[in-house]
Amino acid sequence: MLVVMKKGATEENIQAAVNSIEKRGYEARPIPGGDRVSIGILHNKGSVDAAHFMGLEGVKEVIAVTKPYKLVSREIKPEKTVIKVGNAVFGDGTLPVISGPCAVESQEQVIEIARAVKAAGAQVFRGGAFKPRTSPYSFQGHGVKGLEFLAKAREETGLPFATEVMDIENFPAVEEHADIVQIGTRNMQNFSLLKRAGKSFRPIILKRGMSATLQEWLMAAEYIMEEGNPNVILCERGVRTFVRHSRNTLDLSVIPAAKKETHLPLIVDPSHAAGVRDQVIPLALASAAIGADGVMIEVHHKPEEAMSDGAQSLYPDQFADLMKKMTAIHALAGQGS
Ligand code: PEP
Ligand code: MN
Repeated sequence: MLVVMKKGATEENIQAAVNSIEKRGYEARPIPGGDRVSIGILHNKGSVDAAHFMGLEGVKEVIAVTKPYKLVSREIKPEKTVIKVGNAVFGDGTLPVISGPCAVESQEQVIEIARAVKAAGAQVFRGGAFKPRTSPYSFQGHGVKGLEFLAKAREETGLPFATEVMDIENFPAVEEHADIVQIGTRNMQNFSLLKRAGKSFRPIILKRGMSATLQEWLMAAEYIMEEGNPNVILCERGVRTFVRHSRNTLDLSVIPAAKKETHLPLIVDPSHAAGVRDQVIPLALASAAIGADGVMIEVHHKPEEAMSDGAQSLYPDQFADLMKKMTAIHALAGQGS
């Protein structure tokens, strides 16, 4: 249920509506909008009688929310959420690009790649310090030391950075250093981690689980928002299918479908979908055309020596060329809402 206030409703009107909702044992969540405030009614078991709130001063209408997710839905907040991080703006119709290596390997490596992607026009750097690897024998990341390398690269280049958090234990260190905290595909339904992310003061990139439906993905985002963090960026990164010609299948169709359902920014990571660099380039161009609110692309200055995901990492000059083409395509076809 959503209580929509009139344009001219006063603070007192809003507070009175909140009190009325809470008096009945529900949680009231005011959601500021473009020109009016709405109040979401959460934690109701069963239906809520709209008549309780219809007569209150300043209330325009009371509408039923038909979706299982509430805070993430367009029903509750029709206008797009806009999230600013440094010079990147997610959700305003521009195409911010997050780029960098899969894993943080050394101080020199991150500084070198950060400089290259910045020169090509990326607004946010990326690199994993805590790596979720399929094999326990693969490089697991430098941990907190890696976060420090990333912070130093930010100092050198001015680029904010996104990095993955794998568990609650390391959440404080990751959110202290990072500008954006990423939850990876393998943790999309790690509900205790989602709840912790909901208490974070940082924006969260929530990658789609590799076998998650749109509804499951949005419900995962709902966990974060429900705990109080409104800054969630959804990231499509490919889902697992029967095909063998790519690592995963980039589900671009989820972008227009999700846009109808949610006001949250939606970005695309073609690198983890493709798994090989030759496919990353056309898929990135398609992402720029489809109205995504951003793109994430892995780049490495020496991909053949990379400790993780070398095969899908673009060379810096390939990335620079791709950036020019993505900008042109986005200007022509990509600006969604
Ligand atoms: C990553 O971005 O480095 C990563 C591990 O991605 P995903 O969770 O999509 O596999
Ligand atoms: Mn990777």
